[in-house]
Amino acid sequence: MINPESLRAEFQTRYGREPRIFRAPGRVNLIGEHTDYNGGFVLPMAIEHDTFAAAAARDDRKIRVRSVNLDEAGEIDLNQPEKKMRGSWLDFVEGVARVLERENGKLRGADLLVASNVPTGAGLSSSAALEISVGLALTEISRLPLDKVRLALAGQAAEHEFVGARVGIMDQFISALGRKGHALLIDCRNLQAEQVPFAPKDAAIVICDSKVKHKLAASEYNTRRAECETAVEILREFLPDIEQLRDVSVADFEHYGEHLPETIRKRCRHVVMENERTLNVAEALRENNYTEFGRLMFLSHASLRDDYEVSCRELDLLVKIAGNCTGVLGARMTGGGFGGSTVNLVRRENLDEVIEKISFEYERQIRIKPSIYTSGAADGASEIIL
Ligand code: ADP
Ligand code: MG
Repeated sequence: MINPESLRAEFQTRYGREPRIFRAPGRVNLIGEHTDYNGGFVLPMAIEHDTFAAAAARDDRKIRVRSVNLDEAGEIDLNQPEKKMRGSWLDFVEGVARVLERENGKLRGADLLVASNVPTGAGLSSSAALEISVGLALTEISRLPLDKVRLALAGQAAEHEFVGARVGIMDQFISALGRKGHALLIDCRNLQAEQVPFAPKDAAIVICDSKVKHKLAASEYNTRRAECETAVEILREFLPDIEQLRDVSVADFEHYGEHLPETIRKRCRHVVMENERTLNVAEALRENNYTEFGRLMFLSHASLRDDYEVSCRELDLLVKIAGNCTGVLGARMTGGGFGGSTVNLVRRENLDEVIEKISFEYERQIRIKPSIYTSGAADGASEIIL
């Protein structure tokens, strides 16, 4: 585990100066999967795993950055032309610096030391945690404070332009704007976000990383997006005002769904029902109704598996094992699919035995040990005052 104290000590040893320390969390999406690019709703929470950025301003315009996790360093000169898509972690740092400079004003150079407890590539968005912690550090030491929505948008633009990943806004939004004891209901069409209380006394969120990633993910993602667009085109004959599947209600789908070819109909059903489920989970959380939250998680998984067809054997197995454990209120795959993690709602009194059973059974059947994390809903990015 990395902590801010040891990061400060390491910074002082390396650079002989006192840094300021900033942090931004990873995230898990509780529900609302494959709804973002359909203009719909997502409901992530920030997790208790952070990326820390220790930073001190320099007198020139260089950003010298080192990652403790990778034991690698790089340098960016803001006075030189920008570099894009090197294919390394520096793209995230350069991206966020250049976008912030373009959107928010001239940055000072900086020495940066970055260290993270967010596992990379597990679907917990270590990339957003990196962008947001570095973005916050650069703007703060340059005395150009920025509101958190604009910081999130800068992180997203960095991924689009400098990394080449066409990501939605969810990851950066929750990393920047999360609030302890709350999930964030984000309307992906207009970027309105609402804090929804989520601090169950008797239950916890458990994240199980399947440790697999199937190659299908990228090509199938593009296919799904195209299928959703086709559904909109066909349904527009009956519902002329719709722009995205977000605009199709459950009643609309029941009326007109029969006009869609079978595969497109299944994709459409997932998106329409998942949007409805996401709003219903937000409502359940407001009422502390965790049984209902759990029930909707299982339905979401079944829909992703059977209608949207983005699950895989390993994720299905994790959900199935969880479903057979006493004390598991709900379980579903989270993230794009074809590997990555599941998210589970588990009664605290059963926590240890549930984790033990999922770990044991999954390893027995797949021969891979899953990584399992427990987390409450954490605060979004902030400065740490030691
Ligand atoms: P995810 O965001 O789901 O963890 P991504 O592939 O989007 O997966 O981002 C992971 C990448 O982000 C890593 O391969 C690395 O380039 C970069 N990254 C994340 N955290 C760090 C870190 N602490 N130090 C250096 N690079 C990091
Ligand atoms: Mg990412």
